[in-house]
Formats: sequence, C-alpha cells, structure tokens
Amino acid sequence: MGTCAICLGATEADADYHEACLESLFGTAVLPAIHVTLGELQKVAVKMAGKMSISGIQEKVSLKLSSDKAKLMVAARGGRYVLKPESSRFSLLPQNEHLTMRLAVLAGKRRT
Ligand SMILES: [Zn+2]
Repeated sequence: MGTCAICLGATEADADYHEACLESLFGTAVLPAIHVTLGELQKVAVKMAGKMSISGIQEKVSLKLSSDKAKLMVAARGGRYVLKPESSRFSLLPQNEHLTMRLAVLAGKRRT
C-alpha cells in the first residue's frame, strides 16, 4: 500500500497517486512531466520574481499545463500550479505545507 501525494489517502500497490486525484487536479489520469530542472529553478524563480504575485523566501515557480495535459511548463502569467521543491534549509517544508492545507480542508468539512 502507498500514499497518494495529492489527497494523502492510501493507494493500492505502492502507487504514488490515485487516478481520480490526478484527474481532478490535472484533467488527466497520467501525471504530467515537469519541464524545469532543479538546477534551472533558482534562475527561473529570480527571473519571474517581478512578474508574478507569489512571494516569500522559498524558491517556487508558477506552472501551467500544456494543452495536451502532458507537460507542466514555467509560466510568468496564467499559471495554475506552484512548484515548490524541497528546501535545503528546511527539510520537508513543501510536504508540511501540503499536509497543513489538507488538514484545513478536512476541518472545513466539519459539521457545526
Ligand atoms: Zn488521492
């Protein structure tokens, strides 16, 4: 059994994602390829810094999905996704943020 990196629920046979979660997030059951390397990320993030509204100290870039839904590409404008790689200063920071956001969603579904 694995863990879905999107919903954090259990998956069958060590899968990293539920197909339904991929479909919900990307509109396709196949994980799109990311078209920026970690080596390029800092240069791209600095280049985009004045062109996008995402701020903060963590390296991150805005991405958009290609029309065939096969690739996630750097997008100065119109990006729908944010790529936040692992930080060398704070381990597991993106994972911690994702878990916190999932808990917030679950808390929001609580009946009053
Ligand atoms: Zn899932």
